[in-house]
Amino acid sequence: MKKIIQDLSKEELSACIKPAFRAKQIYHWVYHKYASSFEEMKNLPKEMRETLATTYTLSPLKQVMVQDSKDGSRKYLYELHDGHTVEAVLLLMKDKVYHEDGTLKHQERYTVCISSQVGCKVGCAFCLTAKGGFMRNLTAGEIVEQVRLIKKDKHIDANRRVNIVYMGMGEPLDNLEAVVKSVKIFADEEGMAIATHRQTISTSGLSTKIEKLGKMELGINLAISLHAVDDALRQQLMPINKAYNIASIINAVKHFPVNDRKRVMFEYLVIKDVNDDISAAKKLLSLLDGIKAKVNLIYFNPYGGSTFKRPSVEDMQMFQSYLTSRGLHCTIRESKGLDISAACGQLREQALEGAKDA
Ligand code: SAH
Ligand code: SF4
Repeated sequence: MKKIIQDLSKEELSACIKPAFRAKQIYHWVYHKYASSFEEMKNLPKEMRETLATTYTLSPLKQVMVQDSKDGSRKYLYELHDGHTVEAVLLLMKDKVYHEDGTLKHQERYTVCISSQVGCKVGCAFCLTAKGGFMRNLTAGEIVEQVRLIKKDKHIDANRRVNIVYMGMGEPLDNLEAVVKSVKIFADEEGMAIATHRQTISTSGLSTKIEKLGKMELGINLAISLHAVDDALRQQLMPINKAYNIASIINAVKHFPVNDRKRVMFEYLVIKDVNDDISAAKKLLSLLDGIKAKVNLIYFNPYGGSTFKRPSVEDMQMFQSYLTSRGLHCTIRESKGLDISAACGQLREQALEGAKDA
């Protein structure tokens, strides 16, 4: 089987391909010109292009489905070489804005939400990705390729910065090595140049891995999927809480290096009549005391067969204002792409269902 060229860092590529400047040229073709074949790389000698094509592939992912949302977000389903599928979502965070005189004020702002595994071992009760179980880890190249293909698809210029969130399918810290490698490949100045402070890893709270990630001092942002403030409830929602309880997560976060201008994000999935009462908000406030934190409230996104319910707008706002009025930064996540079911795993599920019907 051919090797995935996106699995290689620039240094690794330089070690394989001589002279070293050729590696830089290839990197440029891959990440700036979004090449899909070695044949296109016209400034490389023909012989080299042919040898590369026999050793490497540039296409580890094949787009099999897309869905557009009214709000400008687009969701992609990709097939891997072994037939498994993963999702990635392009989120339009801000539209292009012009000044009154017609000059450009700012470009569109994009965030790409990417997957790190096929399925997930963590098994959260509210998550569709968990339902299909765990298949395998993605390689660094399979992670990187999601962003490269999306930038290519949307004609996003190589110099335009996008943000990255590891919030698609899978638990990124359960695939730490490949995820960290992808973070570094994204950040390479001669590649996509997406600085680590533009990348966020979201985790269900593998405390020991949070500590390990922190020690690497990558400058990456951290998001914790907390979702409950007492261990009994959290354990029901997220079985991983048996191994890593709330106290261990808070302790790990306290050791995590946070950029001066940033905060650790605590995601709190609000489920109607499960964790949406004000006493939970009160406990959350005391739990996060002394941490440079911000809270992001997420509406539970229902899917076929789920027993949980979406909270009302009023309940969400009450929860939020309890926290903000006491000085905690708290936002409500806009349900970007809700009409295309943006919560992870939902497009894949639809495709699998479709395949069953066919
Ligand atoms: N495994 C990591 C990252 C992927 S999940 C983690 O759990 O943090 C990304 C986010 O999607 C998590 O905060 C998760 O709680 C949320 N999510 C899962 N199912 C959801 C649903 N049905 N509705 C809304 N958000 C959901
Ligand atoms: Fe895995 Fe995250 Fe889904 Fe939990 S919410 S099952 S950790 S992907």
